[in-house]
Amino acid sequence: MLHRHGLLRRGRSGLLLNSTAPACRPHKDRQAPRFEPPHQRMKQEDSMDSVKTLPIAVIGAGPVGLATAAHLLERGLEPVIFEAGPTAGAAIEQWRHIRLFSPWRFNLDDAAVRLLEPTGWESPRPTALPYGGELIDNYLTPLAATAQIASRLQTGARVIAVTRQGMDKTHVRDRDTTAFVVRVEHDGGETRDHTVAAVIDASGTWSTRNPLGTSGLPAIGETSAADRISSPLPDVVGRDRAAFAGRRALVVGAGHSAANTLINLADLAKDEPGTRILWAVRGSSADKVYGGGDADGLPARGQLGSRLRRLVEAGTIELHTGFGIAALKNLDSHLSVEAVDGRTIDADVIVPCTGFRPDLEILRELRLDLDPAVEAPTELGPLIDPEFHSCGTVPAHGAKVLAHPEKDFYIVGMKSYGRAPTFLLATGYEQVRSVAAALAGDQQAADTVQLELPETGVCSADAGTSCDVPAAATTASEEPESVCCAAPEPAFVGFPTGLAHGRSGTTNQ
Ligand SMILES: Cc1cc2nc3c(=O)[nH]c(=O)nc-3n(C[C@H](O)[C@H](O)[C@H](O)COP(=O)(O)OP(=O)(O)OC[C@H]3O[C@@H](n4cnc5c(N)ncnc54)[C@H](O)[C@@H]3O)c2cc1C
Repeated sequence: MLHRHGLLRRGRSGLLLNSTAPACRPHKDRQAPRFEPPHQRMKQEDSMDSVKTLPIAVIGAGPVGLATAAHLLERGLEPVIFEAGPTAGAAIEQWRHIRLFSPWRFNLDDAAVRLLEPTGWESPRPTALPYGGELIDNYLTPLAATAQIASRLQTGARVIAVTRQGMDKTHVRDRDTTAFVVRVEHDGGETRDHTVAAVIDASGTWSTRNPLGTSGLPAIGETSAADRISSPLPDVVGRDRAAFAGRRALVVGAGHSAANTLINLADLAKDEPGTRILWAVRGSSADKVYGGGDADGLPARGQLGSRLRRLVEAGTIELHTGFGIAALKNLDSHLSVEAVDGRTIDADVIVPCTGFRPDLEILRELRLDLDPAVEAPTELGPLIDPEFHSCGTVPAHGAKVLAHPEKDFYIVGMKSYGRAPTFLLATGYEQVRSVAAALAGDQQAADTVQLELPETGVCSADAGTSCDVPAAATTASEEPESVCCAAPEPAFVGFPTGLAHGRSGTTNQ
């Protein structure tokens, strides 16, 4: 079992901890029966006692999952981290060739840094903008290798379901004091149930992209065309070059992922004759992807937009507007992509830059409280709804906002934003600091949420649907002097996601 801490004590919350107060939160929904006969109460106390000896499951070893573990350890709580991939940062590994838009100083978690420092780790230059690969090599890999994390990290361990021990979703009695069961598929094919005291889901959204079809459903034929659909951010000039060189590539979507891929494809086309670049957007123009051009508040993003516009105007990129995809026909030699209005495009490979959604299936047996549109916790949803917000600011938030009716269960990190694309690491690090405090019973620390940020945040509003993808195709490797949100946008104290310039501010998006 996972109790390697010499100084662990039990809190009344039923969790192993260092601090004194228990985590105690009333149910938001149906309450357990109020009267309990003495023998029943004793049984319940016994069961609470045995739950107290269990570790806390963290799902996913991305930056937020590892930060969660670091904060739990600081609180004297005992994490066990399940990571589906072969290493920590497995999702970022897929976009290691993309440069982040936020500099190092916003990408490191404080508790994680406190674990790293005694190992002789050198902090990267705070103003430098790292590539995804650098985030892995210079931060996540050394963090995962620290003795404290390495001994608690299980890789090749995919969580396929979470539930309460011995009860399905409909059972109320003793629910709050019953252990969780996390069902894990381990590499090699073995499936095991792990019993834990609490669960923190930091599994991100990378593995569940939105479908190509309109209406939120896959286009007809999308599943059988899977072998001609790439990952959402392929490395077209590097690792994935062979799949794109000399071929017809159709990029679908109107965010910065699409912009990055299109520009990289244009670079590829210079060296690889026969490469054709097609771009389909649902809206009536691509203006919002071009952003503010040279007047853009974020210079690197402005350069990206201007370059993209020039490539479209020069005919290097063939833009198809108003192209909502209805069906894909996988012909022998290529794909025929059919729009809702009957137009067709022939392509050899499709790049789906259509955004992501959370995998809620693994949480099916838990009592969740999610915003019906965004699939983020109900209180958070309206603050980040992409229908109304692009990149503004969302107030710092923690355990209280992220709580569900299922006591001691939290969704954090990218997945906590549901379908909203504007999540930032710094926001996630504050989430997990607060959640660890709440689980340790330190309600005051859990409720005191704050982010130390520059006056303008780290990206500005209006130039796209999301902050999810940086100005990777630019050469800037340092944070610009004013990282973002320069005029004409209002200045905010806080990190982006929430200025009223979302889809509802544009037409046909
Ligand atoms: C291209 C791109 C650029 C970005 N740039 C920035 C930026 O500059 N600044 C910023 O603040 N944010 C940025 N973001 C947004 C966000 O910070 C990142 O997506 C970040 O990786 C989110 O961290 P996470 O730990 O929540 O999720 P992830 O990094 O996605 O990690 C989740 C982990 O969980 C694992 N996992 C998934 N399912 C399971 C399962 N069922 N069982 C076990 N393990 C599982 C995955 O393998 C993965 O390792 C960017 C996002 C993208 C896509």
